[in-house]
Amino acid sequence: MNRRKLGRTGLAVAEIGIGTEYLHGQPRETVVEVVRGAVEGGVTYFDILWAYPDYLDNLGAALAGLRDRVTLTLHLGPAVSNGQYRLSRDASECEAIFADMLSRLGIDHADVLMVQWVDKEDDYTGLADEAGLLALARSLRDQGKARFIGLSSHVAPVAQAAVLSGDFDVLMFPINPVFDALPGRSHIEELEAEAGARPRGVNVERRRLFQTCAAEGIGLVGMKPFAGGRLFHLAESEKGDLNPVRLLSYALSQAGVSAVVPGVKNRGELDSVLAFLSASGEEREFGEALAGSAWRLEGGCVYCNHCLPCPVGIDVGQALRLAAIADQGMSDDLRAAYAALPAQASECTECGSCAERCPFGVDVIPRMSRAAELFGR
Ligand code: SF4
Ligand code: SF4
Repeated sequence: MNRRKLGRTGLAVAEIGIGTEYLHGQPRETVVEVVRGAVEGGVTYFDILWAYPDYLDNLGAALAGLRDRVTLTLHLGPAVSNGQYRLSRDASECEAIFADMLSRLGIDHADVLMVQWVDKEDDYTGLADEAGLLALARSLRDQGKARFIGLSSHVAPVAQAAVLSGDFDVLMFPINPVFDALPGRSHIEELEAEAGARPRGVNVERRRLFQTCAAEGIGLVGMKPFAGGRLFHLAESEKGDLNPVRLLSYALSQAGVSAVVPGVKNRGELDSVLAFLSASGEEREFGEALAGSAWRLEGGCVYCNHCLPCPVGIDVGQALRLAAIADQGMSDDLRAAYAALPAQASECTECGSCAERCPFGVDVIPRMSRAAELFGR
């Protein structure tokens, strides 16, 4: 499987990871079958979300003997009361829960320690308190119990502040076309409620967040690529030809994404995710399916290349993607990636054929001019 760099951590992770959220409550045989099947399929990145003892014990059994083949993310924040999930911000409680997680999983460290579910601005500022979870995460890292520190959020402005703080190496954030068309300040419950509202237009705050992650070297892990499964419950007329392969392709095409972590609960769901690996370029092509869905991502490039061919050979999606990241901050890596493109934006003859073919109404020519200006060619 193709591997990507997890931002400044330098870790190379397979671009399709697995979220284990829905393995909670599954029998051990299913958990073992899914985890081992995923590793055999080339998956290296696993997100371990909960603190439920049976869930951790099952994952520990599934991961036995595989530690050197996987990158494991554990979370600070999940607690359990009366068998139910509870979000904790108590550092000493979280420290004890984290120790229990390591023990049940049979490992001595997490690769990424993710401060979980930070969606409110006051919650984010509270993390930095002397006795807050950020101090705990740093202490655990200094003790060798975690290699890197991350944060998970569903709210773009909160995540943007975290990314720019320099305190985090990895961001876990939902990436799918439904949420990308919704207001960036929405809390997850609002996102879910609004998922029937059929808004139009790319969400600028979310798009800027992804570009900032790329510019700042933050490993961006896309969660909820299927909008928490909602995309599959829509009527055919609403979802069009969007399927798991195309939705994974969409998430992996967005700026800055290192890996995407669909949640699966059984072998059948794992197989529909791993189908991405054997899918042809045409089967991964999401532009037409997205344009035919009820969701409207108008005005913003989704990097689908539905507008090709360009008569002078410009890779429109890649050129616009690199320019969007460079707008947040230029780097040598960006210059090198741009130089490797088959043709540069300065070669654009302004023929306009790409804009005519773009189903999302992107005004390509001024963006090509901006790309040429940013990269000087
Ligand atoms: S300009 Fe339109 S068709 Fe071309 S890559 Fe962007 S969104 Fe896709
Ligand atoms: S407008 Fe420029 S980028 Fe678009 S197809 Fe024509 S030459 Fe290519």
